[in-house]
Amino acid sequence: MGLFSKKEACPVCGGEVKGLFLTKIGDKQILCKNCSEPISMDKELLKTATPEFIREHLDYRRKNAEKYAALQWTTKFTSIPGLQVGIDEVGKAIYLIHDDLHDDKENPVVLSFNQLTGYELLRRKKTVDDLETAGRTVLETGLTAIAEAARLVNNESSENYDYFQLKLTANDPYWSEINLRIDFRLDRLYGFNGFSDELVELCRMLKSIINRELGHSTYGQ
Ligand SMILES: [Zn+2]
Repeated sequence: MGLFSKKEACPVCGGEVKGLFLTKIGDKQILCKNCSEPISMDKELLKTATPEFIREHLDYRRKNAEKYAALQWTTKFTSIPGLQVGIDEVGKAIYLIHDDLHDDKENPVVLSFNQLTGYELLRRKKTVDDLETAGRTVLETGLTAIAEAARLVNNESSENYDYFQLKLTANDPYWSEINLRIDFRLDRLYGFNGFSDELVELCRMLKSIINRELGHSTYGQ
């Protein structure tokens, strides 16, 4: 640090703090690029985070990357706008890639099945599916209704856009509540490259995982 420099060193690693999109933690301390990048936690936690909390988190994130590399992602969901999910039924784990999780594709949030405790799918603010809703029929009907409405609106209209919110709760120190927004054009729901089938299947699997029906009679028991 030069005598006339006003910049503080990174409180986590002591490195130089420069660049854009850096993470700010408690006491208005700014982290360096290297420490900022791997962070994936609820924004509320960052507000009060201490350098020690971040150091523990970075260690956790390194282990998370190893876990991600070691698991076998046999089921992948890739057509839902802005969201990618992979499931390992044998290793009983799920990964999530979404901008709101501040994630990169080499190190997405990985949760084990038994960490997941809650699920809800909303269209805008209205619940269209949850744990109490049995089977896939209700969600399918809901999606069909949305697609029907799409046929009635003009292609250029803002009413042609819609969004879902996928809400999950988990026993996880950094992501106890996950709320992922899925923005889409109504005409992307069905037809060529439509994502409705994948969304229905993902929701079915999430419910099975949380209801402890999926991957619980297989290897490792
Ligand atoms: Zn640093």
